[in-house]
Amino acid sequence: MCRHVAYVGAPIRMGALLTDPPFGLVRQSWAPRRQQHGVVNADGFGVGWYPTGPPVAGTGSAPEPARHRGAGPVWADETFAELSRVISTSALLAAVRSATVGMVGGQSVAAAAPFRRGPWLFSHNGALPGWPESASRLGWGLDPGVLATLDAPTDSALLWAITVDLLGRGKTAASALTEVIARVQDAGGGRATMLLTDGHTITATAWGTSLCWRRLPDGVVVASEPYDDDPGWVDVPDRSLLTARPDGVAVEPFAPTQDGLDR
Ligand code: GLN
Repeated sequence: MCRHVAYVGAPIRMGALLTDPPFGLVRQSWAPRRQQHGVVNADGFGVGWYPTGPPVAGTGSAPEPARHRGAGPVWADETFAELSRVISTSALLAAVRSATVGMVGGQSVAAAAPFRRGPWLFSHNGALPGWPESASRLGWGLDPGVLATLDAPTDSALLWAITVDLLGRGKTAASALTEVIARVQDAGGGRATMLLTDGHTITATAWGTSLCWRRLPDGVVVASEPYDDDPGWVDVPDRSLLTARPDGVAVEPFAPTQDGLDR
């Protein structure tokens, strides 16, 4: 399993979330505390972050995040540490990857989260059993043109392609992720804890792997596991949908199969 973390709020130095905390994402790449599947997250990493300040003239108002990713272990990447040290951002999503058996391994940057499209960043912590056969049960109805844009031959990339398709058809982040979970259920189940952000809101599912959140003085962080021992961390119950904004967090249980997939 992978580990991931997202933040929205007032500008904060990336290192304050990723590298400074005693059990931050870099440490979680080699010594996660709550990981139930896999031991080391050395098959790739990535961080996506949003620009702070007014939009650059001529670029429109939607803030496009920047990304830095790599195919190997994050602890060996000098640039990740350098960027974390100097860049401040109002929102980020970062992840370290442990490739699921049967998926493309640690030689693929394209398989490393966060995945990006327009203002969106996405990551998936989990696995779909029966891959790649399960892909056809999950991706039914998907335009082959969408499939042709798949970032990598992985379950995460397919979940992301479905999410992008749903967002493009006008679904909200919450209803898009709810439908993705319904498809996972419909395809035979699996673990699908996902983070999705547009730089203002974090929408997440807790589905088969750990997730928690914590309020910071001027923002909110959502993560696979606490990056320190602060008592402010709150565990998200499994099978929940979380919506986090700087001014509040909502967690609700959901039963996706009741949504009724029109298959
Ligand atoms: N199954 C996904 C992959 O192989 C995610 C893995 C994970 O959560 N560790 O990339």
